[in-house]
Amino acid sequence: MHELSVCQALISQVEDIARQHQAEGIRHIIVRIGPLSGVEPELLIQAFPLASAGTVAQDSQLIIERLPIRVHCESCGADTDAELNKLVCGACGDWHTKLLSGDEMLLASVELAKTENSYV
Ligand SMILES: [Zn+2]
Repeated sequence: MHELSVCQALISQVEDIARQHQAEGIRHIIVRIGPLSGVEPELLIQAFPLASAGTVAQDSQLIIERLPIRVHCESCGADTDAELNKLVCGACGDWHTKLLSGDEMLLASVELAKTENSYV
């Protein structure tokens, strides 16, 4: 399962952060996922308990924020939201667009159990 290895990579990133901050645990992990990232949020959530077992992230909650798809139009210059499989300009309908966002998966924030401070 692709999402399991994505999840394991995410957790090792979180473990590094926890180590740097000498945290005893993690409360929650916020991840931002674009629809074009190739990562299915539902599968990532399913993989999380398996990937986090025995790690510092074991009792934490995985929160996923979905990013919109944004495109820049090369014809009229507008930046608009677009749909998956339909990357057209929202202003003029032209197909000559450049992807601005929607293909990323980012670790947005980790709330450590030790303090109230969040790492961003
Ligand atoms: Zn346009």
